[in-house]
Amino acid sequence: MSYSIYYNQQYTGSEYAFDTTRKSGEIATAITDGRVEAALVDPVEHTDRTTELIRSVHTDGYVDAVVNGDPLHLAESQGFSWDAGLPSMVIAHSTGLVAGVTEVLSGTSRVAGSLSSGLHHARAAHGSGFCTFNGLAVAARAASDLGTERILVLDLDAHCGGGTRSMTDPSSVVQIDVSTNLFDRWAPTGDDALLIATSQDYLERVDEALALCDQVGPFDLVLYNAGMDPFDSGVSKGMLEIREQKVAEWAAAREHPLVFALAGGYTSRLSMAELVDLHLLTVGAFA
Ligand SMILES: [Zn+2]
Repeated sequence: MSYSIYYNQQYTGSEYAFDTTRKSGEIATAITDGRVEAALVDPVEHTDRTTELIRSVHTDGYVDAVVNGDPLHLAESQGFSWDAGLPSMVIAHSTGLVAGVTEVLSGTSRVAGSLSSGLHHARAAHGSGFCTFNGLAVAARAASDLGTERILVLDLDAHCGGGTRSMTDPSSVVQIDVSTNLFDRWAPTGDDALLIATSQDYLERVDEALALCDQVGPFDLVLYNAGMDPFDSGVSKGMLEIREQKVAEWAAAREHPLVFALAGGYTSRLSMAELVDLHLLTVGAFA
């Protein structure tokens, strides 16, 4: 049985061409071609609610800047050139996660994904590191609004998720992060953990992170930021495939509802086709 992967053409709607603004379209094509057992679903009906949620976790001044392209320095604080297609694109990347959260919390399915990236470095009042709106914080707020009490943000993107931690409520959101790059490092408190891994001990750190999740769980919802950019730190495709199987099996064994985002993954050391293959490991592992 196939499951929902949220995507629409707005995900690639900016003129500014970069992996974060383009790769979802390539991955959607691979899913349409039947390379993994999943169904593309358009999240557009959740757009208005998501726009309200974005305004509830980001400052009005920042949201207005992104929407209008003014002031430009704020609209481009994620590192992209602003154009008229950018606002609907970055809203769509959050909308897919809100749609996924709404679906899994309704109980109609346990797992959903969104071909979203450019999320976890964004702050309430500005963008950072290719991240405009923090869709993980937006999704956590959506889940809280639906009555979810305990949420896990599992962030296995290569870079640390300091933006997300700065924007979510520590009383309801636990963040467990395995990173291979110190960018956006944050200070864990409470049940949080930030584990720094190398390409040698990577899967051991992932195991350690999942064991920590068990110590502080269970959770009503897992938001999984499934970045493939540890590849750029020397983590092999084979290790990333095992990582995705571990996370999928861990969540399934505990019956945790889970929504994943693609997150990082770049063509600096890979062709686009090879990058698509990496992200399909995530989509396939949860199928
Ligand atoms: Zn990253």
